[in-house]
Amino acid sequence: MNKSLSKGKIAVFIALGVVALLAIATVIYMLVSRRHNAHDNELPPGALTGVAETEEKTETATGEEPLPTAAESDEIRGLFIASVGNINFPSRPNLSETQLKAELDQIVANAVRAGLNAIYLQVRPTGDALYDSSVFPTSRYLVKEEGAPLVFDPLAYFASVCRQANVSPYVWLNPYRVINTQFADKEAALAALAESNPARQHPDWCVFYGGKLFYDPALPEVRDLIVSGVGEILDRYDVDGVIYDDYFYPYPVSGEEFDDDASYYQYGNGAARDDWRRENVNELIRRTHERVKAAGEDKTFIVSPFGIWRNSSADPRGSKTRGLDSYASLYCDALAWIREGSVDVLAPQLYWERGYEIADFAELTRWWSAQADGTTVKIAPALAIYRVESFKLGAEEIIQQIQFSRAYKNNCGFLLYGYPQLAQDTGGLATKLNEFLAYSYSAGESYTGSAVKGVSFRFPRNGYTTTLSGVFVLGASDPKTPVKKNGLPVGRTKSGFFTEYMDLNYGENYLTVEQNGVTYTLRVVRISGGGGTSSAFAFQSLSPDRDEAVSVRSGASFIVTLTAPALSSVSVNFNGQTTRLSASGSGAYQTYTGVITAPRAEGTEPQKIGPLVYTCTRDGASVSASSGAVTVIPEGVWPVATATKDYAFLKTGTKTSFYDDYLNTNKGMQDELVEQRGDFYRLSFGGWINKDNVSVEDRAEPLPDGKMTAAGCRVNGDRFEVLFTVNRAVPLDVKMEGSDFRIRLFGLDSEGVTPVFAGNPLFTSIGCKADGKDTLVTLTLVHLDNFYGWDYSYTEEGILFSFAMPRTLPEGEKPLEGKTVIVDPGHGGTDTGALGFLAGLDEKNLNLTVALAVAEKLRSMGAEVIMTRTDDSTVSLYERMDLYDEIHPDFAISIHHNSVAETTDASKGRGVWGLYWAFAGRGLTVPLQESLAEALGTYSFGSKPQELAVCRNYKFPQTLLELGFICSPPEYERALRGDYAEVCADAVARGVLRYYENQGIFLEGGTPS
Ligand SMILES: [Zn+2]
Repeated sequence: MNKSLSKGKIAVFIALGVVALLAIATVIYMLVSRRHNAHDNELPPGALTGVAETEEKTETATGEEPLPTAAESDEIRGLFIASVGNINFPSRPNLSETQLKAELDQIVANAVRAGLNAIYLQVRPTGDALYDSSVFPTSRYLVKEEGAPLVFDPLAYFASVCRQANVSPYVWLNPYRVINTQFADKEAALAALAESNPARQHPDWCVFYGGKLFYDPALPEVRDLIVSGVGEILDRYDVDGVIYDDYFYPYPVSGEEFDDDASYYQYGNGAARDDWRRENVNELIRRTHERVKAAGEDKTFIVSPFGIWRNSSADPRGSKTRGLDSYASLYCDALAWIREGSVDVLAPQLYWERGYEIADFAELTRWWSAQADGTTVKIAPALAIYRVESFKLGAEEIIQQIQFSRAYKNNCGFLLYGYPQLAQDTGGLATKLNEFLAYSYSAGESYTGSAVKGVSFRFPRNGYTTTLSGVFVLGASDPKTPVKKNGLPVGRTKSGFFTEYMDLNYGENYLTVEQNGVTYTLRVVRISGGGGTSSAFAFQSLSPDRDEAVSVRSGASFIVTLTAPALSSVSVNFNGQTTRLSASGSGAYQTYTGVITAPRAEGTEPQKIGPLVYTCTRDGASVSASSGAVTVIPEGVWPVATATKDYAFLKTGTKTSFYDDYLNTNKGMQDELVEQRGDFYRLSFGGWINKDNVSVEDRAEPLPDGKMTAAGCRVNGDRFEVLFTVNRAVPLDVKMEGSDFRIRLFGLDSEGVTPVFAGNPLFTSIGCKADGKDTLVTLTLVHLDNFYGWDYSYTEEGILFSFAMPRTLPEGEKPLEGKTVIVDPGHGGTDTGALGFLAGLDEKNLNLTVALAVAEKLRSMGAEVIMTRTDDSTVSLYERMDLYDEIHPDFAISIHHNSVAETTDASKGRGVWGLYWAFAGRGLTVPLQESLAEALGTYSFGSKPQELAVCRNYKFPQTLLELGFICSPPEYERALRGDYAEVCADAVARGVLRYYENQGIFLEGGTPS
């Protein structure tokens, strides 16, 4: 027999009759989408795609619009440098000019190395100055003791070094703190200050609290002092602005009162004390802002408050958090500053991980963005790089926080706190930041501009009916004006995308939002799932059914099934015998199954026996139905089936999905036929094959028992081959178990055979043992990633397995020259895939845009690229699989985007998944998945096996990549940015190169790190 790979159509296509094709293909397709969804989307079948195909058809039919390009704008990529306690700079007091310069040079160099563009140098840690001040004494953290003469001005030098490095210099001031060490009483604290310290000169301006000294925020003299300190810096130094941190009224010390009674009696004016204190802070913020703007319109005033304004439990306007309430505890009312526009930028300290239940980074990011929506105030969250080692994701957490917050309205960048972690590149932080920030995408504003008018709900559609207890909502809106729900702002991305989650009661449910005075209402109806027992008593789905031709060998067993209401008694009568069927499954209807044995039939003439009569009894009532007669193949005839096609489906049942089937079989496979049911034959080993894939010959004798006489291996060119010398072409199946490649040769005896192994780059050993009537062959892989596809054939010598070995790429501009690659944009045409927030920009559209860029990139590297579609046409999974087998490329990449289950908060979806099937795709998938997660700055799910239609061809490496969650506003926003496809394509290209580099390492006998 001649071994020929990859020719012809996929067997099932030809095999099924037209009517059967429609019916079965629909079932299989549903299974396929469901399987895909089971990991990809976790959606109930048809949940999202159904909507798209009916409701939005006219809109999606407009096809591929080019994705608009984002208007890029610079983002703040800032770094805090703390001087209090000599935390970051200076490393200790009383350093020489040379030492101070060296430290500042190093700080700026480290910031630049990490890709940052702004530094916030703390020049007033405690009512003092790290610069030449005529208001405050020289800082104890800079000179020998507070107030000692300044020998070198660090701020002047800092500003000039920053300018040379194209880094924006800012000053960081702690406004109220006077001294940061603890004392027994106020007098002792005052005595520790320099004579010239304004606090020492005006003890009545200070409050002693928790052993420390603070300026009283209530006093006009204090505000004047602080603002004059701001003014002298802006007048004398070349800095871009001023930042205050989170210290306003001091953090609470248990059992202590902040004694501002005198001020309250003098200035309280009848206001509640809490409100009055907040207003004292607000006034400082206002006056500071005025002073900053007086120094120049381009100067920026930033405040970096504690990350939680209020918790929603205390105030419905607050965030869904359970942390310290800075409004109540610190008298810090950032919403007032937003309302009044008295800050330019807020840098809330969001020092927690995404998903942290008490204070979730994602929740707080959305919340702060929503508060600033429609105002002039920008948001640049402060991120906790000092905690990088305690984060579950390490440095990746920071990258993902940057990427996530970038998508949200009014975001203008980020500030990092934790200089040592940056300087020491802890967990690769600085390196990762630099690489990530090099992808130019930054905090550009809305990409849609005014494309969206008002508010529209993409999913669910208005009037949507469901049995589920909740549903996520995908909304788009005109980004220019805030959207409000119950009067509170909704967190939106820069392009106006938002999600809501509706808990559904039975009956009508409404989501109402408002924009520009217009109200938008979404109605969702929840109906009962009808989970109880069915009142209609009937049974259905007979197998074999009424019209199905059934033949069974003399004395052989065959299976009958049907579906009937739960708690029924079901039996079948055949040939005078009654067999009780047993129930399985749950719900109102169950599956009933029984095994029937055909009677013995002598001679060579087939006998017809029947019909099969089914009876179903429940609550005293009975129904019956019958299927046709069964033909019994007599004992004197041995029908033998021989496969006539390569890559034909070998199934575990007549209606099973290929996910549950055996490995596809090849031309020449031979086995006895024991049953025919409709278009399928059951072979003696147990599997089913479509009749169009075999020829059947009636023999007078059974096939001989299968016998293996030898097994050997060899390296043949760039393939590794294993040959089993056998007396007949038995059916076989293959499975991966860990690193073991297991071949089951059905009905084959290998007693006495010891396989002869040959050294090769793929496997470490081969073994062979009996398992019942079968032989199990085990080939153990060197490494799961070191596997590149294989094929097998029935030849005159025996059963030949042939495995692709690792290969490397040539040097030069076009390393993929000579390689053929399939790029498969998932879904298309009537199959929308997961829905996005905008019609015409659903999964199928994003997949295509990215796939086209990937194809172009790989072509530029020399590959010949074939695509399963290049426009919005409908291509079935069978057509895709067909093309895969026909082309037999060097590798194939399928591009997808993900979604979550309808009953999940859509904003929780995030990250890149790599999917492969066990036989070849892992080594390709892993570097591609890693490279994409890195480039997109998103969560990395890693890679896992899943027997998807476009992953299951064992002949060459395939991968299916889920690039992101289309239901997540920030990931969707990212996907619509102009550079998205290119960033993905570049990442794929890097992943492919790494894949081949890894192969080189395997060839040398090593293991890639
Ligand atoms: Zn998909």
